[in-house]
Parts: sequence; structure tokens; C-alpha cells
Amino acid sequence: MGNGYAGKILRVDLTAGTVSEIETEQYREWGGGHGMGSAIFWDLCADKTISGFDPANVITIMSSPLAGTLAPSASRLEIQGIGVQSTPEWFTRSNMGGRFATMMKFAGWDGIVLEGAASKPTWIEIENDRVVLRDAETDGLWGLDTYDTQERIWNLQVANSDGWREIGTKSGERAALQSAVITIGPSGEKKSRVGALIHDAGNAAAQGGFGGVWGAKNLKAISVIGSKDIDVADAAALLNARFSAREDLGVNVDEPKDGFGWARFSGNPSPAVMYPMPTDVGSRPQACQSCISSCRARFSDGLGNESSCEETYFYFFADMMYNQGQTTPTVRYSAEMVQRLGINVYEIDHGLNWLYHLYQEGIAGVGKQVDIDLPWDTYGSREFIETYQRMVADREGAGDILAEGMWRAAEHWGRLEEDTASGVLHYSYWGLPEHGYDPRAEAYWGWGSILGDRDINEHDFNNLFWKPSIAKWYGIPSWMEAEEFVTKFAERMLPFDPDPMMLDFSEDGMYSEGQVKLTAWHRHYTRFWKESALYCDYRFADFYSPKTEDRGGFTPEGEPLFWNAVTGDGMSFTDGMELGRRIWNLDNAIWTIQGRHRDMVKYSEYLYEVPYGGHLYGPYWMPTFEDGTWDYRLVTGRVIDRERMEDVKTMFYELEGWDVSTGWPTRETLEGVDLGHVADTLEAAGKLGGE
Ligand code: SF4
Repeated sequence: MGNGYAGKILRVDLTAGTVSEIETEQYREWGGGHGMGSAIFWDLCADKTISGFDPANVITIMSSPLAGTLAPSASRLEIQGIGVQSTPEWFTRSNMGGRFATMMKFAGWDGIVLEGAASKPTWIEIENDRVVLRDAETDGLWGLDTYDTQERIWNLQVANSDGWREIGTKSGERAALQSAVITIGPSGEKKSRVGALIHDAGNAAAQGGFGGVWGAKNLKAISVIGSKDIDVADAAALLNARFSAREDLGVNVDEPKDGFGWARFSGNPSPAVMYPMPTDVGSRPQACQSCISSCRARFSDGLGNESSCEETYFYFFADMMYNQGQTTPTVRYSAEMVQRLGINVYEIDHGLNWLYHLYQEGIAGVGKQVDIDLPWDTYGSREFIETYQRMVADREGAGDILAEGMWRAAEHWGRLEEDTASGVLHYSYWGLPEHGYDPRAEAYWGWGSILGDRDINEHDFNNLFWKPSIAKWYGIPSWMEAEEFVTKFAERMLPFDPDPMMLDFSEDGMYSEGQVKLTAWHRHYTRFWKESALYCDYRFADFYSPKTEDRGGFTPEGEPLFWNAVTGDGMSFTDGMELGRRIWNLDNAIWTIQGRHRDMVKYSEYLYEVPYGGHLYGPYWMPTFEDGTWDYRLVTGRVIDRERMEDVKTMFYELEGWDVSTGWPTRETLEGVDLGHVADTLEAAGKLGGE
């Protein structure tokens, strides 16, 4: 098929033990990634109301045409299906980087679709067109952690078969190319709702509990190794685009400029970690295939490799407390362990904070209301975190309850109402943990999450918090005046008018038409450019740059530049936004069939009752327009106003063209994005919104 596409999608029926192909052309109109995944799920998942653990759940693992090419920071995977982590369970998504998408494309596949459930533990070995379902017990994989599973597969793949694997190898040695493997650990095997998919050392698709879904399908791992090419439409244009982007906008390692906050396209090759790096352990940057810089590290002592963000610091404060203010390798050991066991770090991090609070209150402990046997007197030690993580992964004792996720665990122990009202269990939306960008301050993050399916975890606008807040915390000058900063963002938010009021985080701004537009723009942008084209969240969107003369960023020129060089589509940024809106509409149709209704769209109680106290690291400053001026002002101390939230929902549904009384898609809107057949299905199910 060419132009970035391998041309076919692998379809695996685990129940029958058979494989077949889908022509990628059938789904070409969706671009790739999430768009294709949603469309395939729509077509192949006959009953969309089933549990995620049901064998009939359809899981898609999709790349994009950019994967495996020189398009920067875009070789990623989008994973979709009915998740088991949220309450209720429904169609959701997760995402990972690394090199799996690239290797899958090199093997000739744009994606993989999983259906059914194997009768015994199975793993899938893909070697170009050869696809074999292998016995995960006989091959010694079942029961292993994620690192040992990959190691075992690499050791199995030696030069003892026909074909290109023999190149440069001999019997008893590993294959010339190292396969890319996605696997589950013990947590997934035990069908945990907090089970993650892990690839290499630190690439995790953890949201949605897809590790547990694989466990229910008896699927331990997928290994892929490929030796084919990926054709692109205009190789010279792609190469030149990459070179000029690097020169004009990318990091210059000799003169790094983007010193603090969320680095974007110009980000330095430094680990995205949230605690001071050890100075006595050697490290070097590590990147996903095609990345223009890198955000991860490998350490000479092998602990915590390739981890980023939350897993790098979730045990940091406990470690500091236990070691009289010093950090120790236990922090990276904890990150290592969470990857090895294949657990969703957000769940066990927030869960641990909650449990520790209950322990201090005398509520958690052996024989207490929250009956849990943990060595609390060693909290902060390596022994403690080992015991806790193993308990969750192996479902031992109270771990059996925790493996259902903290929301359901709180329900089980009769703590849910009280602890979500007080915010001790700060799970904000859909039974999922709050992310650190609180809906009471960074409103669009909350609106996007509660009006969608999960914590959005897309950081395109977070520098509106990080840049001013870090400047205030450290008493350094503002990086850019508030009005100029929001203008840089607004003028890049095509196809909307460049209205800075979309970025007003005053209390009135939270409930304004501008914030609703920001929420919708973000959902449309991410559905295509981030989740379907699969540009990395660490690098895109790029609204400002420390490298350009006017300090404007790479968005909206950058996204279509690489897309068009690879695909030859001639797509504009706005075309991509429109496709994102189409995908967003299809997703809402799926949720509607699964039971979504406007009345369900509510936060946890504490967000309405407990004033926001600030970020983990300090007070929260954001750009606000008050008394006729833009400035960075404190946005803490707020709660969500219930009535004004209803106004936001109404405005959002109106903007999207959905029924304001139900939130369901309307025929007019669906037909407007060429989804008339979806409207027919909704109508037959009695779930089509009124015009
Ligand atoms: S910025 Fe980090 S996560 Fe993103 S593509 Fe680069 S290495 Fe991967």
C-alpha cells in the first residue's frame, strides 16, 4: 500500500487459534492509530455492552503511517477496547512508545486485532508474514515477570529456523534482530484491573487495565520481528523537514534553552523524572524510535531504566521520610518493580497514599475495617514496597481486593462514600485517580476527562501552569508575560478563532464558553494528531518555543508537515482537526451504546466540597483575565460549582452538536461527519439524540 502504510492489519482469533488479514485500505479514511482502532472496534465488536473480561471484547493495537519513519517522536502505539479499570467499564484507550510500532511495521503490519480468548496460556510470535500462536506454558513464559518474559523470548529466538533469522547468527545465539515484545506480568495474568502492558523496560500502556484483559484472553505476550521497508511518499521532503525542524526548533544540546516546565518539541534530552537524579550512578539518555530528543534514561546499575514521570517518584517521599531526608536507589527500585510486575503505577501510588492515611487514622491494619497486612513500621523501605507490590500483583490477602483497583477496594471496605467525599481517596472521575492537574484549577483537564472516558493524560496546555508556577515558586522572572503566553497558544488553535479567552483560568473562566471551546479543541486535536497520527505527548502540541524569534512553536505547521511527507495526503492541520472531531463522534456513539448519559457525567464529591489546596509541589498559578487585565494569579481555593458545571455540559453538547438533554450524538451531526450508518445503529438501539 505504501506511503507510510504496511498495507495490512493482523487479525487474531484466540478462541479458534487462527489468524487472518484485514486490508488497511478498508480503514484508510481514519488515518491510523485511534481512528482506525475505533472504526475496527465498531465493526467487529458485535455486543459493545459486554465486560472487558468477556472473550468477545475486541482489542486493537494500532500504529500510524508515521511509525518507523523519520517523522520525529511519532513511532507509537494506540491500544483500545473495553477497559476494566474504570467504573463503569467501557470503551477506552491507552498508548505506548518504544520500538514495537516500528518493528510491527517492518514486519508488514499496521496493527493487530485480538478477538476471543485462548483455551490455554498463549503467546503470539510474529516474524514478518509468519504468525504463530505458541504455548506460553510449554515455552516457560507463564508466571514470569515482564522483563524475564522478554528475555526468555529473546533466548528462544535463535538461529535454528528457516529464513532471515539465520543471517549473521549461529545455533545457540540470539537472532540478529531483537524482537519487540509487549507482555503482561503476574498482575495481568491474575486478571487484575490494574494490570499493565509492558514493552522493553519502561514503555507501559497501563490505563484501562488492558493487562488484565490480556490475562482474561490467556494472552501472555506478542513478539514481533520484521525486516521489510516502509515506503514514504516523499523521502527527500521528510528528511529535509526533519533536518530543518531540528535546526530551527529542536534542541541544541550545546545550548539547551527550555529550562523548566514541560519541554515540548525543543525539549532537552533529559529524563522526564520528578525527583533529583542520582549523581553517583552513571546514566545516558534513551529514546523511542525516531524521537528527536529523548526523555528517558538508562542507569549503569540497571534500576528504573526507561521509566518516566509518575513511576520515577511514586515512592520518593516515603523513601525520603524513611531515610532521614535522603533519597536512595529504592525509588528507582520501586519503578523497576512496578514495570516488572506490570502494574498501573497511578493506581498503586494513589492507593498507597490512601492506605497510609487510613493506617495513620487507625482504620487500616490487621483486623481493622480495612483489613490489610502490611509492615507499616517499615513504610519507606525496600521491604515495604516489595511486600505491597507483590501483594497487589499476586492478589495475595488484601491484594486480591486491591487488584480490583482502589475505587472498588474502597467500595468493598465500606470507605468509598466517606473517602471520596473528603478527598482522601482523590479519584476524580469514572473511578480513576486524579492526575495532578486538578479540575478545580485546570478546568479543561477535568472537563475533557469527565466528558470522555478516562483521565486525559495529555499535557498540551500544562505549561500554562508549570511555567508561571515554577517562576513564582523560585522567585525568578516570568518566562513570558501572561497575555503574550496565552496569545501564542490561541493563535495556533486552528480552526477556532484565535481567542485568548479560551485560556482564561479565572473562576469565571472555568465555566466559560472559552473553556468549553478549549476542551473541545483539545479532544479533537488529540483524537487525531496525538492518538491517531501518534505524535508523542511529550513533544506535541508545540505552542511556543524558546528557539524561534517570535517564540511561536511548531504547531500548527509541524503536524501536517511530516504527515504529508510520509503519506502524500496534502492534509492541512484543520483537516486533521476535523478528522479528530469525526473520531470523537464515533467514540461518543460507542459510549452511548454502552450506556453513557448526561446524568452520569459527575465528579467525585470532594471536588464540589473541598477547596483545592494546590499542586504536590506548591501553589497553582495560571493565566487569568480579571479586572480587565491578564496576569498569572493563584487558582487554588476553589471547588466545582454544581450548577455551573451543568451549564458547561450544555455548552459542550451544543458545541459538539449533541443532544443537550442526554449527551447522545444526533443524526445531523453524525451524518455531517459521514457516520450515517452509526446514526442508524443508534436509532435502532433507541439511543439517537434528538435534533
Ligand atoms: S519524548 Fe520520550 S516518550 Fe516521547 S517519543 Fe521521545 S523518548 Fe519517547
